[in-house]
Amino acid sequence: MSEFDYDLFVIGGGSGGVRAARISSTHGAKVAIAEEYRMGGTCVIRGCVPKKMLVYGAHFAEDLHEADRYGWDISGAEFNWTRLRDIIQDDVSRLEGLYAGTLGNADVEIYKERAVLTGPNEIKLASGKVITAKYILIATGGWPANAGCPGEEHALTSNEIFHLEEKPKSIIIVGGGYIANEFAGIFHAFGSDVTVANRSEKILRPYDQEIVGKLQEMGEAKGIKYRLSAPLTKIDKNDDGTVTVHFDDGGEPQTADVVMVATGRVPNSANMGLAEIGVELDKSGAVVVGDDNKSSIDSVYAVGDVTNRVQLTPVAIREGHAFADSVFGGNPRTISYENIPSAVFSAPPIASVGLTEDAARAQHGDDIKVYKSDFRPMKNVLSGREERGLYKMITQGPEEIVIGLHMIGPESSEILQGAAIAIVGKMPKQVFDDVVAIHPSMAEELVLFK
Ligand code: FAD
Repeated sequence: MSEFDYDLFVIGGGSGGVRAARISSTHGAKVAIAEEYRMGGTCVIRGCVPKKMLVYGAHFAEDLHEADRYGWDISGAEFNWTRLRDIIQDDVSRLEGLYAGTLGNADVEIYKERAVLTGPNEIKLASGKVITAKYILIATGGWPANAGCPGEEHALTSNEIFHLEEKPKSIIIVGGGYIANEFAGIFHAFGSDVTVANRSEKILRPYDQEIVGKLQEMGEAKGIKYRLSAPLTKIDKNDDGTVTVHFDDGGEPQTADVVMVATGRVPNSANMGLAEIGVELDKSGAVVVGDDNKSSIDSVYAVGDVTNRVQLTPVAIREGHAFADSVFGGNPRTISYENIPSAVFSAPPIASVGLTEDAARAQHGDDIKVYKSDFRPMKNVLSGREERGLYKMITQGPEEIVIGLHMIGPESSEILQGAAIAIVGKMPKQVFDDVVAIHPSMAEELVLFK
């Protein structure tokens, strides 16, 4: 008999926690998991999944607009926000059920309540129940940052945006990251008047700035406004329900139906007893862990957004899986954070892997070459849409190893995922050149760089 109730107690039923719990159980551990909100976590309930469904919904606006040029008469087409919102929420509930089912099938015991730590091997549930475990895994994710100004309670975040009662006629989205730019594309397509307001001059900082420049150019051309170098100072709620947002940029305050704040996500580690039992947290509140996901306390591990390494679902899943294999599977392993592909599901989408041109230059000086293809997708030519695509390849050294690939254009996230294999495999550009093009396609630009 073990001296503990469980071998592993996971706090947080999101991407990282669910994977860690399931795999640990398959390795033979006795596992329980606590989730205080809904099983599936941010990605499934109020992140990647419902967001991508909105992106799909938004795409119809473009397609319907161009349908005429493709011979379709679609007069009378109308967008219904509440219908799409409710259908998405139904599917989110279906997925939530699947997640709980998968855990149940793997013999993981589920506690649908908040859990906090009361000792290196002890957890207390909201119901008051005290549980002991040999290992505790913190997988509590992140939480949207507040606006940090007077009136911040009048701002919505990504948590609330999926549940809007009606489509806003106008929306100010504060922030310059991927979530801000994705929702800008979504609401613009649905017909809202959209302003992206960002504290600094640059948006989407981690991405290649030439590619980002294209997004901004195309966004402006279609009517998205960018209010840059505009720190948020105050939000007023008006009697008619609108909000007036003040910025420290010398300009006039701006009124809109909704202000959404998307200025980043903070690790979800507050009031969990972590510091009290000696778990080291950094300045942002992230649990400090080593490559083995172990915290400063031997029995406490952490994976996913709460560690603030790379805040992406596939990374949280990999960390959770590596934890389970290492601690319970007899296969200690770490994951690589190099060359992680990522996308911004903006309109059009951006996708990227490896070093940006600026980063490659900073690292390798003149020992790099930059190849570009600036093209008008064939579909846009027939429809008369002016939007162009831009693909960039960065190579290094005489062998021309591909160290960066950056794209903006239709379906770029789908196209880049395959190409990322070559970057992780450290292949030279010659391999791309040797591949015969699939014609006509946008992806063929990847093997035709001159
Ligand atoms: P989470 O999935 O956040 O799960 C943590 C869980 O812990 C939550 O369910 C929470 O309720 C629970 N919890 C917290 N505290 C406690 C407690 N004390 N007791 C019990 N339960 C607790 N990533 C991508 O890769 N691609 C995307 O396109 C993408 N889009 C996104 C869009 C939006 C709008 C947002 C907000 C995020 C998006 N992300 C995307 C990021 C992705 O959702 C996260 O990186 C991922 O969910 C992190 O997983 P996690 O396991 O660390 O935490």
